[in-house]
Order: sequence, then structure tokens, then C-alpha cells
Amino acid sequence: MRFLGDVRSRLEKNGIPSYRANQVFKDLFEKGIGSYDDMKTLPSNVKDFLKNNVPIFSIVPKKESTSKDGSTKKILFELNDGELIEAVLMKFDDGRNTVCVSSQVGCMMNCKFCATGQLSFKRNLTYEEIADQVLYFATLLKKTKEYVTHVVYMGMGEPFLNYTEVAKSIDMLRDDAALNMGSRSITVSTCGIVPEIKRFAEQFKQVNLAVSLHAPSDEVRNEIMPISTKYPLEELIEACKTYTEITHRRITFEYVMLDGVNDKERHAYQLAVLLRGLLCLVNIIPYNETSIKGIKGSQKSKIDKFRSILDSNHIQVTVRVSLGKDIDAACGQLARKNKLSINSNNHGGRKQKDSGKV
Ligand code: SF4
Repeated sequence: MRFLGDVRSRLEKNGIPSYRANQVFKDLFEKGIGSYDDMKTLPSNVKDFLKNNVPIFSIVPKKESTSKDGSTKKILFELNDGELIEAVLMKFDDGRNTVCVSSQVGCMMNCKFCATGQLSFKRNLTYEEIADQVLYFATLLKKTKEYVTHVVYMGMGEPFLNYTEVAKSIDMLRDDAALNMGSRSITVSTCGIVPEIKRFAEQFKQVNLAVSLHAPSDEVRNEIMPISTKYPLEELIEACKTYTEITHRRITFEYVMLDGVNDKERHAYQLAVLLRGLLCLVNIIPYNETSIKGIKGSQKSKIDKFRSILDSNHIQVTVRVSLGKDIDAACGQLARKNKLSINSNNHGGRKQKDSGKV
């Protein structure tokens, strides 16, 4: 759905009173009515105009998968041009309902451990296509009198390479005429697009920032994240310090544990030195298996040791609990696997206990 002001002017230009737009927004966002046909306040001529000119959803659900424990729902959406993306709803025991959204079709960052990174980049999503992923789950949850409590930009794509549309989508989520979400319930995750970190800090002081770090040195990071050759760790950490100075907010560093790559004890000590004095939390992510050859997750004993070294060096640290592995909906697993089945006639995601992009 577009912004309220856009819908109002569209109606006015076509001789329909603009208050009809307010009725639509009330029905859609307050009552969770996701179809013009079911909006009883609208006369048929207005319904017809809206159906043809202002579709409620810019994305169409094609396939739904639910994890065995019922905690996770992944939806494959088709876009207007036939491209496919995935979004995930995670229901936590503490009552949080978190939606993980995609911001691009595919990804050009090519992180070696990420299933999405193995897809070719097709295009950026529009703000509507991003916000509609949340709206879709919001209307589903309304049926059981629940609502979306958190949104994480950790699905397919690098949000800061689609900055303008991502920023508009955040405005749409926060709009009190639409989903009316609090800034602090939204998290954007970047693999480290340095120039946009300061821009984001200045524009969205209360929205959370997560940085996919995954390595304590350029040597290790260059191996698994090609972006590191463009923005070395020194520049990235400097940008993160600037972020905390501007926002006075803690930054989350995501760290996926890869067997033999970044999980040694010396890596933990290096990481502690790198982050010393920075307002931050390290979120350790056990690797969710994908079909990528040669990449394996670390053993639990190594993860425990890594954590204890950070802990004893006064770095705040958590270990993420992944949901939805059985439906390939966990961190780093979103891969548009359904391309062939959907496109036979004819586009990472992830999710975890507290969000996060691998
Ligand atoms: S981890 Fe994020 S930035 Fe890296 S390839 Fe996957 S989706 Fe792209």
C-alpha cells in the first residue's frame, strides 16, 4: 500500500472524495481487512476504482511454509515483474512477532556463507514491496488478534544499497496512519556499506542498526565478505563509532561461526581488541546449514569458548537461537529455492531469536 497522502491525491484527481482513503486505511491497518471487497464502508464504484488503480498489496503470496513447531512462517512472494522474494514471520515465546523482510531481489554482495549471496542480483525493491511484506503478515496476525511487534531488514539483499526505498519503507512502517510501529522495534542490518552508516545515524536515530561483521581482521573478512576489500575494518569500525556518537545507541555486531574460518580462540581475542570501548553487543550466530559446498558451522564447544573469551574481555555477547531451519527460513538460508517450481510456466534471509542478518 502507498502512503495515505498518495492515495488521497489519486482519488481526488479522479473525482472521488479523499476521505475515502482514510476509510481504506482504517479498515486495512486498524481492522486488518485486506480486501477492498470486504470493506463495507466503500461504495462499489470506489471499490472498482481502487481495485484497478491502487492495489492493496504490490506482492502476491505464492507459497507458504510453516515450521514443524509452528514458530516460523515463510512466504514466497511474487512481484509484478514475476521476480520472487521471501519474507519470514517468527513467533517467539515471549510474545514477539518479528517479520524479517527482503530489500532486494537477490544480492550483489556475494558473502561466501549466505545462500542469498549465491543468487544473482536482479533489482531493488520499492518501498511498497518492502512494507507490504510486513502488511501481509500484519493482516494474517490480525485474524488471531495479534500484531507485528518487530521488523528486521535481514532478508534477501543489502538494505543500504537500496537506501532511498528502504528509508521510505521505514517511514511507512512508522506512519501513524499505517502500521504505526515504534522506531526502536525496527532493525536494519548492513554488511558494512560505510558511507550509509553515518547517513542512517543522522536520519534514523532511534532505529536499530546491526552490522554483519563475521571476522576480527581484514585477512579473515576478505576471505568470506568481498565488501571488505572496498571498506576495510578500520573504516567500518570508525563509521560504527561515529554511529554511536550521533545516536548514543548500542550497535549490534553479527558474527556467524564458521568452522576453521573465524572461530579460533585467537579470533575471539582479536575481536575483543577490535571492539574495545565501543558501545556494542556481539551476537554470535551458529551457522545454519545451506547447500553451499565447503562451508560448515562451528561445533558448540567452540562457540561456547568464543563466547566466554569475549565475556571475560568485557564485551557484551549473546548467542542467537535460530528458528525455522526445517523450512530454510533461518539466517542465511533464504534462497528463492522455489524459482523453478514457480517459474516453470514461466527471486536471506533468515530469522532468529532477536533478528539479525548473517
Ligand atoms: S549476508 Fe546479506 S549482504 Fe551478504 S550476500 Fe547474504 S543477503 Fe547479501
